[in-house]
Amino acid sequence: MNFARTSLQLPHGQLQLPAFLPDATLGVVRSVDSIDLEQCGIQAVVMNTFHLMQRPGSSTITALGGLHKMCGWRRPIITDSGGFQAYSLIRQNARYGYLNDKGITFQPDGSSRKFHLTPEKSVQLQLSYGADVVICLDDCTHVDDPLPIQQESVKRTVDWARRCKHEFQHLIQQKQIPEEQQPLLFAVIQGGGSRELRKRCADELLVIGFDGFGYGGWPLDSEGQLLTDMIAYTRELVPPELPMHALGVGHPANVLECVTMSYDLFDSAMPTRDARHGRLYAFTTQASVPITNSGQQWFTYIYVNDDKSIKNDAPPSRFCDCLCCSNYSIAYLHHLFKINDSLFMRLATIHNLRFMTQLTERLYQYEQQ
Ligand SMILES: [Zn+2]
Repeated sequence: MNFARTSLQLPHGQLQLPAFLPDATLGVVRSVDSIDLEQCGIQAVVMNTFHLMQRPGSSTITALGGLHKMCGWRRPIITDSGGFQAYSLIRQNARYGYLNDKGITFQPDGSSRKFHLTPEKSVQLQLSYGADVVICLDDCTHVDDPLPIQQESVKRTVDWARRCKHEFQHLIQQKQIPEEQQPLLFAVIQGGGSRELRKRCADELLVIGFDGFGYGGWPLDSEGQLLTDMIAYTRELVPPELPMHALGVGHPANVLECVTMSYDLFDSAMPTRDARHGRLYAFTTQASVPITNSGQQWFTYIYVNDDKSIKNDAPPSRFCDCLCCSNYSIAYLHHLFKINDSLFMRLATIHNLRFMTQLTERLYQYEQQ
């Protein structure tokens, strides 16, 4: 593996790369608190503008002093622009909103309010929330959408990114934010399954100039397989010294694969969702054994709900130092799962998150050797 960079300096601290960031969509990683996250070695979290502007609402977040204060979280926060969520909502049902060159208008099911998200508004909100990394609003597509849709998406994504940068620079100047407190601005590369469009999008965004980039669009195909070729190609379009975020990538095997392609940042709800459903991750080797994607099985699943967990007095993983593995057995977790106690969700989430930080720590260490 060959990392072009091993750290990223942000207003709320330095990230060691590669880094896995859990999704704290609504300002919380479900069932764990900020201290739990710190103790798992989580360096930063991803929060979501689309959801937060609805609940608790932007004026409430600002009144509470921003996301860090509201959530009691001291480390960096990356805020997603909301483009992907608005796209998902509208794609699911056109009744929920529409998108044009100006921006996105949406009205979630059951909401009496209509929300407008323009590139400028998205940047204004993310800055007022106190984000460490601001992501430009983009026009998301599905990889299977026809070419004209992908062409329009690239054109709009570049246009919106230009407007985002303009607004970002204007606000940094207006608020007189000192350099060390200035967030970074990332743009998202769209283009679906077309190499030509991915290249056009990357080239045009590079001319505008950003601190980092994200791989745009859902990263998996209809069978749930990683879109390896396109993800690798898109990374090659960006100079290696610029950090790149594999948005939505979080399956351990996919994180490893993307790290080998020189991606630096990952976020996904999968490890925490799997934990709540009783699917725990465990390494098959100790930390000194290198992890490779050569086909060797370097991690395994533990299904807490299985009958063979009933009297298993071993911890979930003998290679894990988390609160759960240091104190509790699989059998106890099985019992907590069966009686539906919220302690199960906390312990399981802590374990899977520690697995993810151990994974990125192991990958970082090999690079240092
Ligand atoms: Zn553990």
